[in-house]
Amino acid sequence: MRGYVRFVLAVALFVPPAMAQGKAGKTDRSKSADAIECSVTSGQLDKLNGSPAELVLVNGKRIKDVTIVKFVRGSNKDTVRTVVYLRPKRKTASRLRAGALVRIVAAERAYDLVAVPALKAWMLVDVDEKTKAVSARLKAKGRQVWPKLSAEQQADAVREHKKFLADVRRKFSGLPLRLYETKFFLFLTDMPAAQIGVYIAHLDKMSVELGKRFGVPPGENIWRGKAVFVVFVNQASFVQFETSVMKMPLASTNRKQGICHQNNRNGDVIVACHRGNDPNYFAQVLVHETTHGYLHRFKSSARVPSWLNEGIAEWVSTIVVRSSPAPLKRQAEAVLRLKQTGVVGPSFFGKKIESWHYGIASRITDSMITQNSRAFGAWIVSIKEGVEWSQGLQKTFGVTPQQLLLRYGRSIGVPMIRLQ
Ligand SMILES: [Zn+2]
Repeated sequence: MRGYVRFVLAVALFVPPAMAQGKAGKTDRSKSADAIECSVTSGQLDKLNGSPAELVLVNGKRIKDVTIVKFVRGSNKDTVRTVVYLRPKRKTASRLRAGALVRIVAAERAYDLVAVPALKAWMLVDVDEKTKAVSARLKAKGRQVWPKLSAEQQADAVREHKKFLADVRRKFSGLPLRLYETKFFLFLTDMPAAQIGVYIAHLDKMSVELGKRFGVPPGENIWRGKAVFVVFVNQASFVQFETSVMKMPLASTNRKQGICHQNNRNGDVIVACHRGNDPNYFAQVLVHETTHGYLHRFKSSARVPSWLNEGIAEWVSTIVVRSSPAPLKRQAEAVLRLKQTGVVGPSFFGKKIESWHYGIASRITDSMITQNSRAFGAWIVSIKEGVEWSQGLQKTFGVTPQQLLLRYGRSIGVPMIRLQ
């Protein structure tokens, strides 16, 4: 199982109780237009007039065999507000708001419509050019865009997962392990059948909520095959699974409730947990860990930084599992600590945050999504396209990491908050 990165919910179980756990800034108009990578210029838009085209709408509908008449521009001539086109055998032109479209295929080239909120308009982005640019950037970082798999390849992947789970069942033949299969999940567990439904429903809701922010339509499968879950009632079985099957060191499993294994080569995701005695807490851990898997599989293998990865996992588990007070408790505990010390610690923006940082991460994430959900989605997409997270933050929210932290500090009554 080399090649896996582990994300672990390491809170509350071993931390001392006392510590346990925009809107885009105003930018110059021409600059905002330049900031859209691989966008087409006014001159290129003019050249598309008279081209045969297909229009793909936000709701998934397609309008085929049309002819582009012209693009009605915004105040910046590179931007588009309305597309004017002719349907076959019609003499009068039809019009569509650019915001109603996701893609235009014109003169056999695909263009995505990308919103430029600062200009209240849209730009056309050359899909081939953009794909090349993104792939090159990711490759330089040793990352990759996840390949689009055919139905056959997906079925093969599911067969592979099922073989793995059959092996697990054999290894744990003393336990009543049963496999539950849904559209996106393979869920192997020894929990009583009557308990499963609610957890699956949480995972479905998690997919919908994350999809809303990142532009993944409900019903679209982001997993390689399906996401795999191995959930034991008892901790001892979980530890045995982690050490003997996943080859994890004992020290990094025996104090945890869940681990998300993410394969960097093919994108496979395996979430392993034990239920323990608190069903609400377990529900939150399950959604939290699965979110790490979702962020791993979304678009590319580019890493979302630790603080943001944990922040999103906590944020979505709070809205999905309303019965678990754990994330809000962690937020309150972090505030209490910061009111005493004022120091966050440099590891917050580092490779791996500390367990008491979860409450800071989730509150910052929550406030950003509340402030501008669309900018937040665009930011995550840019990270997955290989843009450095702090650069993407500057572009989408117009702030630096330091300013983000200061804003958080002010919101909790610690205006002099320091990183170190
Ligand atoms: Zn986590």
